[in-house]
Amino acid sequence: MLPSPHILVTGGAGYIGSHTVLVLLQSGFDVTVIDNLSNSSDESLSRVARLAGKSPRFVKADIRERGQLSAVFAERPVSAVIHFAGLKAVGESVRVPLRYYDNNVVGTLRLCEAMAEHGVFTLVFSSSATVYGDPATVPISEDQPLGTPTNPYGRSKLMIEQLLTDLAASDARWKVALLRYFNPVGAHESGLIGEDPNGIPNNLLPYIAQVAGGKLRELSVWGNDYPTPDGTGVRDYIHVVDLAEGHLCALNALQTRPGVGIWNLGTGRGYSVFDMLQAFEAASGKTIPYRLAPRRSGDIAMCFADPSRAERELGWRASRGLQAMMEDTWRWQSRNPNGYRSSTAG
Ligand code: NAD
Ligand code: UDP
Repeated sequence: MLPSPHILVTGGAGYIGSHTVLVLLQSGFDVTVIDNLSNSSDESLSRVARLAGKSPRFVKADIRERGQLSAVFAERPVSAVIHFAGLKAVGESVRVPLRYYDNNVVGTLRLCEAMAEHGVFTLVFSSSATVYGDPATVPISEDQPLGTPTNPYGRSKLMIEQLLTDLAASDARWKVALLRYFNPVGAHESGLIGEDPNGIPNNLLPYIAQVAGGKLRELSVWGNDYPTPDGTGVRDYIHVVDLAEGHLCALNALQTRPGVGIWNLGTGRGYSVFDMLQAFEAASGKTIPYRLAPRRSGDIAMCFADPSRAERELGWRASRGLQAMMEDTWRWQSRNPNGYRSSTAG
């Protein structure tokens, strides 16, 4: 019997990574996770193992450490890498930009060096819709000109896209997927794995969930004077399990596709802050107190995907709707009020 393909997942203990590791294991892949646990807990991987009935291999290491990376590649042949490892807090990236460029850009560079050294040339990268900046039109297709991201986090994603494009142009062995995520939300339907933000959440849905769970007092709605149907910001929220499945489809597509492919992973539907608030109230049965607050600096009015290229070329389409996103988030939040640190989920 041929051995199962072996996938290296950087940042696999994190939010999107853990859901993707589960999908990979359930699809018959062998998985090694490399994560420095700077924004996660390996408890996520124990839960993944419970759900999958088998464990990923876990190496606690930093992708910037050449020796540690090399040891992972040397130990067992790797078929492809899915690269989630990175820092993602927009506000923090403004305060400590060098940390973001080092972790995200230098980390990716070191990873690519180690891959090439060990003859691994297939890479799926977590990019973001932030590379479109403030889009001229919506829905956003991949052909739309790239914008100017408004912060160092966004610029690090753009730099990495450029780095990987240059690399693939220099050597035809590289096969790279740049996956531009829209707004990942939700959790696995089991309630066992989900998003576990450090401190006060930056993103809308984890914030709403913690207000509903009584950990935070009220939601601040940042701006109700945008040129949108109800004045609040509109985003394309995508269920994290749909997103995870998109990685599997990208891996498959790369087998027969050299060079760089760029795909939006979104639903193609936009929802406002008030839409999200109401949908969460309906799913949780809780009232979410909120107050109107000034716009958050750097925010854009509207952002949603044209996901048709991913459907055409990857055979992938998001299938989980707003209700599933809300119910799954609430199940995760109510069973794990303190995330992976202590919970009633066991
Ligand atoms: P996350 O913080 O939950 O996961 C990232 C993981 O990478 C964490 O487990 C962290 O410990 C690890 N990590 C960070 N730096 C590392 C390093 N130098 N070496 C080894 N491990 C390291 O974040 P997430 O939401 O799962 O995001 C995954 C990827 O997707 C990130 O690259 C992020 O920028 C990108 N992305 C996320 C979103 C989002 O809204 N969640 C949107 C677009 C793109
Ligand atoms: N938002 C808000 N209050 C919050 C967090 C977010 O009103 O506490 C709004 C934000 O202005 C944006 C939307 O919710 O219109 C989504 O914000 P998030 O940070 O989740 O995603 P991003 O802006 O990075 O797409």
